[in-house]
Amino acid sequence: MLPKGLVSAVTDWFRKNGRVLPWRVGRDPYRIWISEIMLQQTRIEAVIPYYHRFLKRIPSVAELAACPEEVLLKLWEGLGYYSRARNLKKAAEKICADHGGAMPRTAAELEKLPGIGAYTAGAIASIAFGEPAPAVDGNVLRVLTRVMGDESDIALPATKKRITELLRAVYPTGEEAALLTEGIMEIGERVCIPGGVPLCTVCPLKELCRAGKEGTWSSIPVKSAKKPRRMVEMTVLVLSCGDRFALRQRPETGLLSRMWEFYHVPGHLDKAAVLAYLEEEGFAPVSVEDLGSARHIFTHLEWEMKGYFCKVNCPSPQVEWKTADEIEEECALPGAFRYFKEQLKRE
Ligand code: SF4
Repeated sequence: MLPKGLVSAVTDWFRKNGRVLPWRVGRDPYRIWISEIMLQQTRIEAVIPYYHRFLKRIPSVAELAACPEEVLLKLWEGLGYYSRARNLKKAAEKICADHGGAMPRTAAELEKLPGIGAYTAGAIASIAFGEPAPAVDGNVLRVLTRVMGDESDIALPATKKRITELLRAVYPTGEEAALLTEGIMEIGERVCIPGGVPLCTVCPLKELCRAGKEGTWSSIPVKSAKKPRRMVEMTVLVLSCGDRFALRQRPETGLLSRMWEFYHVPGHLDKAAVLAYLEEEGFAPVSVEDLGSARHIFTHLEWEMKGYFCKVNCPSPQVEWKTADEIEEECALPGAFRYFKEQLKRE
């Protein structure tokens, strides 16, 4: 059971302590939607510049639906999880086709759109439209399991479902619904923090919280371990011919689909093996210079990359050759290759 007084403790605190964030200005569902999608897996500080740039270029659902994918991916470059951007466009197209361009007003309708799950639907519906629709993510689960002293495994869908229903039973409507959604999120981000000591002495829930009172916060929430990530070794070859660099486009489907990437081969090659490989592929290598290594972590996968800067004489037609300016302005390159893209500036 959630303790009595939880809702008012959260909303009263949020009224006085809520941060002013760009997406909290007004209750525009489009702006809230974009922010919620960007904030998935990404920190607030990292999102803010992307958010401003995105809204400036694509200020409405109609403009999002009409935006070329290449432009969208370029705006998203570095944020990762690019399917989020593609789903935004698909959802905008559906909103234009089925809802006359106006965002649906209920969580149930919002959840039918591509890329909008129960959490995001609840967040938009409660914040923008005042619907009593809970938005339960890892932050909210942490706060509420601690408050209740609940040692259920939060990795289990049944735990999330039960806590969502407990919250739904006490959800207010209108402005209070918005304040409750934003307030619990913010307590989870700033007070009952992940991976550190919670700030129980300044927490608005301290009088209601079992884990805070009993000092059991370090063992709650309980979360079963995920499967370890799969490691993939690769050698990234930054190929240059004159003032151009080789890029290729990733396949139509799968991880980072249709984004640009540097040429790479499986495994970790040494310099001699890289030279031999380039000869064999007909690139006519002139020099190969070590670029160091980089790692990129995806949800289920980890790329361990070793890189070389390779000057070649033969601009093979298997790849596209672009200047550094063209890469910067036109090509959406995943954050996984950021380290190697930075090396272009040295040249
Ligand atoms: Fe978290 Fe402490 Fe607040 Fe409980 S009292 S919700 S453990 S910060």
